Parts: sequence; structure tokens; C-alpha cells
Amino acid sequence: EAKKEKVSLKDKIKAVVFEREVIIDEGKLEGILSELEMILLESDVAFDVVDEITQKLKDSLVGRRKKIGQKLSDIVIDELKSILKDILDRNRFDFDEFVRNVDKPANILFVGVNGTGKTTTIAKIAKRLTSQGYSVVVAAGDTFRAGAIEQLEEHAKNLGVKIIKHKTGADPAAVIFDAIKHAEAKGIDIVLSDTAGRMHTKKNLIDQLGKIKRVTKPALTIFVDESLAGNDAIERARMFNDAVGIDGSILTKLDADPKGGTAISISYITGKPVLFVGTGQSYDDLEKFSSEWLIGRIFD
Ligand code: GDP
Repeated sequence: EAKKEKVSLKDKIKAVVFEREVIIDEGKLEGILSELEMILLESDVAFDVVDEITQKLKDSLVGRRKKIGQKLSDIVIDELKSILKDILDRNRFDFDEFVRNVDKPANILFVGVNGTGKTTTIAKIAKRLTSQGYSVVVAAGDTFRAGAIEQLEEHAKNLGVKIIKHKTGADPAAVIFDAIKHAEAKGIDIVLSDTAGRMHTKKNLIDQLGKIKRVTKPALTIFVDESLAGNDAIERARMFNDAVGIDGSILTKLDADPKGGTAISISYITGKPVLFVGTGQSYDDLEKFSSEWLIGRIFD
């Protein structure tokens, strides 16, 4: 009897000491979390997003039991990677599969401000689709900016793709509508529609994009911005998503952005996936985005 008691008391004491050692509390986390916050901020993850991520880490880790021999930093990193993966893969769909299954002709609308690489990105997508065997027409829907039509025309010529255009100042909804009619008549699979990125006022722009959406019913609306732009890109993503609703984003100029956190912020704020990244100025410099790739780039 006595011997048994003694052993069980020892076990109890061990258990108490063990439990104190293995339950993760906020104090233990603090140092690691503040270092992680710095890493994320330095990688261009927006402040609000970092705040939310840290809160999520605390919520999920405080009170959790740590196994013997497990390093706290490893647990935190694993949890952080899984939070980031959740953010990056929210509403994710496969672009190629989408194109394969969508009713043809399908109108894909590109929105975003000028100068970020939107026209080049449309050309890159056109190249990708034609090399997969789809027929493509581009619609010159930026009728506001002088030179925008010619710029798209140049790409269309280089790629041997038909362009539907009206004059500068014309109604972009009518241009895109015409391109869809053309695609229907000619059995063309995909219409890639450019839009204005800037107008006299933000309200003009939003009203115009709203009308384009109503009239041309895009199968997909893609927001384009540059990875380099950090917080500016994030604010624009929020604006375009709130105003017209987007299904995904393409981030350009990743080749010039060693940080890469913009993708996390934009996914978080819009709740929509980054589909591709631009990695250079040529038509082939477009890569499918994956959460694993970005997470690897940040942590490995
Ligand atoms: P838009 O005004 O948004 O249509 O912008 P453009 O398509 O004209 O692109 C603006 C500039 O960015 C051009 O010089 C493009 O060659 C360049 N650009 C576009 N995408 C990329 C990219 O992924 N990487 C790099 N380095 N440059 C790019």
C-alpha cells in the first residue's frame, strides 16, 4: 500500500512539473511573436494583416500542450505557415481548369490602375491560352487613356491575336460587348477585356466598371497590380474588390520584389486567390502562383 502511494505521489509531482513545462502561455510566446511580426512587416505584409495573424497565432497556441522535445519556435512556425496557407488559398480555383470548363465564349475582365503591367499581363494570358490551343480575342476597353488602345494593339499584333477596338472616348461596355459578339460569331473561346485604370474621378471609374460588369457579364474578373507597390497595391485591391468584386489577382513584377508579402495582404483583404505572378517583361514571364511557393520563399 505505502509503496504504491509513494510511486503515485512521485508520478503526480512529475505530472505537475511536466504540465507547467508543456503548456504554452502568452509570456513564452511573446518574444517569438514580436520577432515574427518584424519579419512579416519587413516582407511587406500590411500592418493590419500582421496584427490579425499574430492574434490568430495567440488564439491557437496559448494553452496548447507542447510535446517533450518539441521546440516552441517550430510549433509557432508550423502554425504560422498553416495560417498563411489558409489566407493564400481562400476561394482558390485552378485557372486552367476554369478555362477548360467555362461556357465559351468566356469574357475575362482585367481591372486595376495603369502602369502596373495590366496590358502586358493580358498579353501574357493571351499567349498562355493560345499556346494551350484556345482561340482568343482581346477587347480594348481602356478607352480613357490616350495610347491605351494602340498599346494593346501592339501586343495583339505581336501575338497574332485579333483585337476589337473603338475610338478613344467610346463606351468600353460597348467595345467589350462587340468583342463577345465577334467571339460568338467566329467561335472564339476567350475574350480578354482591358479596362481603364484611372478616370476623372474614382466614382467615374467605379460607375464605368459597374456598367461593364452588368452589360458584359464577365466569367472572371481579375485584379492586376504590382507586387512592388506594397501598401498602395493592397489599398487598390480593397477598392476594386469592394467596388466591382474580383475573383482573383495577378501580381506583376515579382522579379523586382524580393519581399513577396503583398500577395499575403491582397489575398487576406480580398479573400480571393493570387492566380499568377509576373516575373519579367516578356510574354512567357508568367507563372502560376502557389501558396507553398510563396511560403517557401519567405521561410526557407
Ligand atoms: P499598364 O499601364 O498597367 O497596362 O502597364 P504595362 O503593361 O504597359 O506595363 C508597364 C511596364 O511594366 C512595362 O514596361 C512592362 O514591360 C513592365 N512589366 C509588366 N509586367 C512585368 C513583370 O512581371 N516584371 C517586370 N520586370 N516588368 C513588367
